[in-house]
Amino acid sequence: MDRKVALIGCEDYNEEKVYQAVLRVVNELGGINKFVQSGQKVAIKANLLMKATPEKCATTHPSVVSAIGRLCKEVGAEVTIVDSAGGPYNAMYMNSIYKSSGMQDIAEKNGFLLNQNFNYVSVEYENGVVGKKFDILQTLYDADVIINACKLKTHAFAGFTNAVKNMFGAIPGLTKVEMHGKYRDIDTFCDFLYDIVGYFGDKIALHISDAIDAMEGEGPSNGTPRHIGVITASQDPVTLDIVGAKLINADIDKMPTLMKAKSRKLYENADCEIVGESLDNYIVKDFDVIEPNIRKPYANYVPQCMQNFVHKVMTQRPKINQKHCRGCRKCFEHCPVKAISMVDKNGKKVASIDYNKCIKCFCCQELCPFGVIKIKSGIIYRVVHANKKKRS
Ligand code: SF4
Ligand code: SF4
Repeated sequence: MDRKVALIGCEDYNEEKVYQAVLRVVNELGGINKFVQSGQKVAIKANLLMKATPEKCATTHPSVVSAIGRLCKEVGAEVTIVDSAGGPYNAMYMNSIYKSSGMQDIAEKNGFLLNQNFNYVSVEYENGVVGKKFDILQTLYDADVIINACKLKTHAFAGFTNAVKNMFGAIPGLTKVEMHGKYRDIDTFCDFLYDIVGYFGDKIALHISDAIDAMEGEGPSNGTPRHIGVITASQDPVTLDIVGAKLINADIDKMPTLMKAKSRKLYENADCEIVGESLDNYIVKDFDVIEPNIRKPYANYVPQCMQNFVHKVMTQRPKINQKHCRGCRKCFEHCPVKAISMVDKNGKKVASIDYNKCIKCFCCQELCPFGVIKIKSGIIYRVVHANKKKRS
């Protein structure tokens, strides 16, 4: 597999400018004919996390998906836009997301299909480390070629999301919640991510990242848009993620997906061959990065009875602003370990977290449609990270 990354600047989401940038990154890697043939079924696996407009930066921008789709159509392929959002995998929910995210408009304009097959297939992957058998979207299973059209964002659980994490959307709807319950710690969860990516293998011909406006802070759904101004692409999702982490000035050795990639010997060092433009011109030094709760370094020398307290002050956790909670129950229904209950407060039902059960997967923070679940940092975490920011 070719590990080089193509990087081209693109100042905004003007459709023609984005098309030219996507054309250039693909040409830098050998041209679209190298990856897609006439008559093939191409599934563009976008990041359609939730019902949100493109300006929120929670989803892959429609101009980027449109540019990829146009290139595929130009060589005579059939294009389907597909993802399984964080929620039920059905027509009603996904159609509302196609509409809000701008996918419906670009599909109508360019003759793309919006996935309407909400079935899934159980697959076996004998090389899987933890995922030897799992369910995937039938549309991805049936596709001849997949193009992973990801979005660069911070991610409370995984540190950041780009190419590798985006493939978690290959798992249908609420099965994702089950998987969070099954692979509770980030280490095992990352193993599962690489099992998904490994299962698809070369069928994912290209990974193309929308990093024109990324998301910083409380990603992947409630952060703040931050301009970077690039499109990147690679055949290798790990190298694309290394470049993504460099763009947001994240510590590569603290990003769980990249730590896992290293331990699985998917890369040796973080040097990447970059073609197109220089990475250095686009690194955002003061990008608001999340350092996730990776491990418990104190586990061996703090008494068991103190560990909950120490963990609380040293890490981050979700916190519900009950005053603004609308009682929609979405977090309650999706918490993989049933740590959330609906309680009476001032005459209304609001969500409440039992931190003794919470595994800090941040699914609730990701899915709350009203953005009332925030990431709360313990006091020691805040002090350590404030000092780090001053030093950088
Ligand atoms: S309360 Fe939120 S962060 Fe905690 S386990 Fe449930 S969904 Fe995950
Ligand atoms: S998803 Fe948000 S608004 Fe809905 S119940 Fe949970 S905290 Fe409240």
